[in-house]
Amino acid sequence: MNVSFGNAEHPIRVCAIGSGPSSFYAVEALFKAEGLTVQVDMFDRLPTPFGLVRGGVAPDHQNIKTVVKVYQKVAEHPSFRFFGNVKIGRDLSIHDLERHYHAIIWGIGCESDHKLGIAGENLGGVHSATDFVGWYNGHPDYRHCSFDLASATRVALVGNGNVSMDVARVLLKDPAMLASTDIAEHALATLQKSNVREVIMLGRRGPAQAAFSPKEIEEIDELPGVDVVVSTDDGRIDDYSARWVETQARSTQRNVKFLTEQVHKGEGEQAKKLRCRFLVGPVELLGHDGKVTGVKLQHAELVADKDGTPRPKSIDRFEVIDADLVFKAIGYRGVPLPGLAFDDKRGIVANADGRVLQSTGGATRTGHYAVGWAKRGPTGLVGTNSPDSKATVELLIADIREGKTLTPNAADIKDQLRAHEVDFVSWQDWQRLDAFEQEQGKLCGKVRLKQPSIESMMTTVRQLRG
Ligand code: NAP
Repeated sequence: MNVSFGNAEHPIRVCAIGSGPSSFYAVEALFKAEGLTVQVDMFDRLPTPFGLVRGGVAPDHQNIKTVVKVYQKVAEHPSFRFFGNVKIGRDLSIHDLERHYHAIIWGIGCESDHKLGIAGENLGGVHSATDFVGWYNGHPDYRHCSFDLASATRVALVGNGNVSMDVARVLLKDPAMLASTDIAEHALATLQKSNVREVIMLGRRGPAQAAFSPKEIEEIDELPGVDVVVSTDDGRIDDYSARWVETQARSTQRNVKFLTEQVHKGEGEQAKKLRCRFLVGPVELLGHDGKVTGVKLQHAELVADKDGTPRPKSIDRFEVIDADLVFKAIGYRGVPLPGLAFDDKRGIVANADGRVLQSTGGATRTGHYAVGWAKRGPTGLVGTNSPDSKATVELLIADIREGKTLTPNAADIKDQLRAHEVDFVSWQDWQRLDAFEQEQGKLCGKVRLKQPSIESMMTTVRQLRG
């Protein structure tokens, strides 16, 4: 190393913005770096850590949430500090961060979603999966959303990725099976009154190109009272796709096998249905009196692109389906942060392999790095972030070794936060809140009873401080 910091006397000071999986894996990689002494501060605008593991992973997938044990271990490192309830752009500026840290890791995820861009998208009863997922997960930003499940029997669900799977499962599952999870109480109460009997999932490509994981669709088929239905027309695999599937991952082949079996099973006898439609795309959302009543679909056929990947090409065939509600689960998108270059086309922080750029395609911005969905877009499972964050941190360390860092000149950021009376949540505060939520959950037979709002979280944090 040709720089005079990164040792016990002059540690490297790094901050991570966002406390989801990608940030924690980045911090873990930093602490594991040989011959480097690092101090890490992690900031989150919410009083609670863990990003999508808390606010995105479905409440009935508690096994996925156990990954936080890994993050808790990272947080136990003596050189780690958590600053919850601190928003960059409100409580601290990017310039403040640059004055305090040698490097800044942006793990801010993708907090918005894609729009369909078709007529009728603003009708009542048209919702984004982002809102629904945040709402049932008790994310404070979404607690005021409302979903009229009591008046709906049929729901159209656009997109067939794993978010669609979560939405379909939560809509169709017996709410009694969700009651003991950490699902938000307001969501459980609404689901208990739900009359939804049918979810029609609309895939723009064919069955061989479905975006869901086999485990997810199989889980829905195993739900008591629910059939996964694929019509002969929808389940047809064209000759090109049949050959293409042979070259694809086993998960794709497993999806095709499952969907083909469903065609043979037919309609089934259960009261609730998940209907998987393929090669259809919404071109208009139809409504009456300001409320959605149906979806106009255009059919498509698959055409190989120049790489040989089958892509949908619209054909001159239309169809209208009735729907009382429409959920759009067509992918997440980042929200631009003033002062940080945004790649508008991809909806992520402008970066090259994790090194943040001064503009899309422009020069590197020294000392700034992106991880997770902010780096690569909204793809991959929780575990995907581990190698991906590690790769970014390797670049960060290589830069440090070349002396390419920010040049902090300010003392402890805590002093600035205190001077501005920012009531930040420390890791110890969070541990108390965590224990409190779990205790409250036990009292009503749940894994955890989440505090519904930032205000109630902060009130509890203050009370627990004693
Ligand atoms: P995704 O996997 O990218 O799926 C998005 C879906 O929307 C795809 O079916 C896509 O079709 C479709 N779509 C996009 N634009 C559309 C349009 N204009 N019209 C119609 N359909 C459109 O994204 P996601 O479901 O939001 O999931 C994000 C990531 O989180 C994924 O990696 C997912 O695996 C992961 N995740 C995992 C779990 C789990 O493991 N349980 C749960 C939730 C999320 P095409 O496929 O044709 O592009």
